[in-house]
Amino acid sequence: MLEDAARFIPGDPPSLVAASFACPWCLATAAIVTVISTTAPSAVCECTACGDEWLVHLDGRQLMRMHFAPPLECAVRWFPVRRAAPRDPNWAGW
Ligand SMILES: [Zn+2]
Repeated sequence: MLEDAARFIPGDPPSLVAASFACPWCLATAAIVTVISTTAPSAVCECTACGDEWLVHLDGRQLMRMHFAPPLECAVRWFPVRRAAPRDPNWAGW
């Protein structure tokens, strides 16, 4: 499985965060992102266009961003399963 490192900072706009999980083969941004919350956080990504999978390593700050403000372009799931943080309807991004 291809492995990569996420390239966003917590203050980046959602589109840049979503781009970190874009398919490395077909560049589709619509991915199923399963965030694995351990001492070495990562995300298993699945491309909904071509079906390939890859692994994206996250640091602690990126993990926090994914918890509090995941990009809407991605279907984000958590392992182990956790409740999503409540969304602020007035939040307009950083
Ligand atoms: Zn793809």
